[in-house]
Amino acid sequence: MTWQKEWEAIKKGSTTKEYFPTVAEKLQTRINFTQNLKTIVTGHGNIKSYLHRFRCIDAPDCPCGNRNQTVEYILFECETVEEERERPIAAVAKTDKWPI
Ligand SMILES: [Zn+2]
Repeated sequence: MTWQKEWEAIKKGSTTKEYFPTVAEKLQTRINFTQNLKTIVTGHGNIKSYLHRFRCIDAPDCPCGNRNQTVEYILFECETVEEERERPIAAVAKTDKWPI
């Protein structure tokens, strides 16, 4: 598949490749990619570490006090979004496919 070869050859997009290692997996995904979701899967967007990297803001600090707000920090650690993180986990846990 040409797209797969191009996807593997591209040096950029390492964050996105973690979520979609193959083009086939991305094509099978039926998710509405909102701006926030695009930020999560690309690492580019309204994330303090990203904005700081491009000198749009003075510091990469998370509002919770952590010194470096990254996508991974928001997804797995930041206490300010704990409720938003727990809701989808609970919803998935209710399905008959959990644990996978
Ligand atoms: Zn935080």
